[in-house]
Amino acid sequence: MSETVLPSHASVVVVGGGVMGCSTLYHLAGSGVSDAVLLERNKLTSGTTWHSAAQVRALRSSRNLTDLIRYSVSLYTRLEKETGQATGWIGKGSLSIATTEDRLTHIGRQAALARLFGIRARSIPVEEAKERWPAMNVQDVIGAVWSPDDGRVSPSDLCAALVKGAKTGGARICEDTGVVGILTEGGRIVGVETEGGAIRCDAIALCTGLWSRKAAAMANVEVPVWPCEHFYLLTGPVDGVEGNMPTLSDHDAHLYIRDDSGGLLVGCFEPHGKPIDPGRLGDDFAFQLLPEDWDHFEPMMLNALHRIPALENAPVKTLLNGPESFTPDGSFVLGEAAETRGLFLGCGMNSVGVATAGGAGMALAHRIVHGHLPMDLHEADPKRFPSCFNSAATLAERVPEVLGKHYEIAYPGRQWTTGRRLRLTRLDPYWRAARAHFGQVYGFERPLYFGESGEPALSFGKPAWFDRVGREVKQAHEHAAVFDQSTLGKIGVAGRDAEAFLNRVCTSDMSRPPGRAVYAMMLNVRGGIESDLVALRLEDDRYRLYVGTSAIRRDLAWLRRHLAEGEEVALDDETEAHAVLALTGPEAARVAEASGAGDLNALGLYCHGEAHIAGVAVRGVRLSYVGEAGWEITCPAESAGAVYGALYDAGARPCGLFAQTSMRIEKRFLAYGHDIDTDVNPLEAGLGFSIRWDKDFIGREALERVRDRPPANRIVSVILDDAEAVPLGHEPVYLRDRIVGKTTSTAFGYRIDRPVALAMIDTGSVSEAGERRVEIDIAGVRFPGTVTFEPAFDPKGTRTRSRPWAVTRR
Ligand SMILES: Cc1cc2nc3c(=O)[nH]c(=O)nc-3n(C[C@H](O)[C@H](O)[C@H](O)COP(=O)(O)OP(=O)(O)OC[C@H]3O[C@@H](n4cnc5c(N)ncnc54)[C@H](O)[C@@H]3O)c2cc1C
Repeated sequence: MSETVLPSHASVVVVGGGVMGCSTLYHLAGSGVSDAVLLERNKLTSGTTWHSAAQVRALRSSRNLTDLIRYSVSLYTRLEKETGQATGWIGKGSLSIATTEDRLTHIGRQAALARLFGIRARSIPVEEAKERWPAMNVQDVIGAVWSPDDGRVSPSDLCAALVKGAKTGGARICEDTGVVGILTEGGRIVGVETEGGAIRCDAIALCTGLWSRKAAAMANVEVPVWPCEHFYLLTGPVDGVEGNMPTLSDHDAHLYIRDDSGGLLVGCFEPHGKPIDPGRLGDDFAFQLLPEDWDHFEPMMLNALHRIPALENAPVKTLLNGPESFTPDGSFVLGEAAETRGLFLGCGMNSVGVATAGGAGMALAHRIVHGHLPMDLHEADPKRFPSCFNSAATLAERVPEVLGKHYEIAYPGRQWTTGRRLRLTRLDPYWRAARAHFGQVYGFERPLYFGESGEPALSFGKPAWFDRVGREVKQAHEHAAVFDQSTLGKIGVAGRDAEAFLNRVCTSDMSRPPGRAVYAMMLNVRGGIESDLVALRLEDDRYRLYVGTSAIRRDLAWLRRHLAEGEEVALDDETEAHAVLALTGPEAARVAEASGAGDLNALGLYCHGEAHIAGVAVRGVRLSYVGEAGWEITCPAESAGAVYGALYDAGARPCGLFAQTSMRIEKRFLAYGHDIDTDVNPLEAGLGFSIRWDKDFIGREALERVRDRPPANRIVSVILDDAEAVPLGHEPVYLRDRIVGKTTSTAFGYRIDRPVALAMIDTGSVSEAGERRVEIDIAGVRFPGTVTFEPAFDPKGTRTRSRPWAVTRR
């Protein structure tokens, strides 16, 4: 099967022969890359893939992640016909049960999500669940959801089929060939070094599973993946268990259970996983397992005995313990590395690698061949992690929690408890003194709300912080608030060609004179939004771009990649050098005056200027992300405390991210990754005001093709009738019995005393002239509401649709 002679050149080298590598190779070959070669240092599947339980459950947290798995299912069911090699696909469905009210809401939300994504799933009575799984004890079961299209596969057979298909397309496989070096020139991939010599290549697909952090380091690239031990029990025959049953998910008990060779396979995501130092596993870790650990598994075993009492008498075959890789946020890594062109990553599969690999391999191959992903996959973008997550200590601390959270109820407001305090803003001591409750964004600690630093009780109902956030909104709406925006990414753009460069990569007019600020987007050639930002022109040849907190690495890479040969532009990450305080509210002008920054009062909208606060030179730009009047004030990071102190003494009070989110949603300001992404164009998003049509910019051609047609989809606000409803985002929006859209961002709108959702809706169904009454499906219950094409709330004095206030921030 494997070749012994290495080619001297290949367009693409795939490193790693697990399911991700095999799928990527198959799709490369299918896309016409006829000279791709896969290098595996041991044997195909010998890492994690061979011992996978290989369940395939389609539903994920977003449409595109779900679509990847849907694609996997269609691939796994058709591969046999195409290649003659069976994949062992068994499509017997899956059954999720709930034993608590909150779990019932959780699985009800998942069923609603499935309806939104067009996946078959329905709530069923406990009696039906028992019929589908007769050996299950249903004493404490209060509800269930049935998903008929889920299944499982044989991982080794699947890889054999993928490889067979890839070879038909010209691909080559070299086993026992470890990659020991990655060759780069001028920041680009030019080859790999193997134990048997070098191969020159244009691109590498790094699919090295739990070894990816070490493998990527060969190119000085950071890939924060770290393994945990992952367990399942295999038994002999069990009374009442027949072959080919659905997978039973009892997530309250941390378990998944299915039949296996006449017995049972009982797998778990225990509350706290066991990390492993990958160095312990060694380069020759092939077809190996880790030692059984019955003490660790015992609580899970007790849960399993409760659910399947007949297990008591079943002979135990083995307690399988295999390593699997996890990332700091529980989502996998797919796409090009920020630092090195041509290095493409497909790894960190977080225990859904077999389910995801079909679609993920397709997406990675598409990225390599076509230069862009086939769909927005920001959840998997390698550039979403700051460097602090790449430390071994942080990873070893975080990944056990990631494994533990895999089956936890996804409550709104849930925060990570490990790997915290990695990045602090200069105002951190002040926020702690004000008893902030923090959330982590791009490694930074950001105050979510103030006055109660302890862990809140989490629920799907009215949150514990509801009144506190309400008071902060009132402060910002009636008086003066300070929001710490210091975590925004700041990119210095300087040089002779700065203006021309920015005009080419941004939609807006970047030629406005120094002293002006501009809201702009960066688009891809398909017209999708890659990023949105605010640019301050500081001097003729110097700008500062303010980008989203999580966007800094991605945006810097995007800008660097679009620099033309010979263009004189310097790009610098200035994030840590400056603090940003957003001073907003009707008393902002008085506070500015009282703190010595009266000069700011003279600034017009979208103008910036210098002033002094507490003797510190600051720069204020007149704009706000919450819609109230005010400025975003930038100062040297080390002076943030003095500036904040003066604003506080003059009457401004700190407010947190939850208040800001509520206000921006009422005002219909959008957030990247929630309301807009690379699949959304500015016209659908209502951001057409920031397009300068009389200049050339990346994405313009694509936009021109749709410019004169009304967009098929559009972002609107939906105000719910019931003040007690708690929408959380990703809910279906119904017009009578038809799904016409989905919620993207949601919050309680304190100024209108109603919940508000931003939603992307089908304009053919809901329009300004037509029907506006819709329903939002929250965990299976439909809540009526009214669509508005205006913001749900527009603060007095700032109300004007024509002004460019749609600044998006996160
Ligand atoms: C117990 C258990 C149960 C699981 N159950 C499920 C499930 O039900 N459903 C599901 O979807 N997923 C499941 N998973 C997860 C799934 O198996 C993995 O996500 C998937 O197999 C990972 O595939 P991979 O290709 O990324 O990595 P691997 O299979 O580990 O492949 C990586 C390969 O890269 C090779 N390699 C590394 N470094 C180099 C180098 N320098 N040069 C050449 N080769 C190199 C390794 O030898 C290895 O073969 C489970 C995992 C475990 C441990």
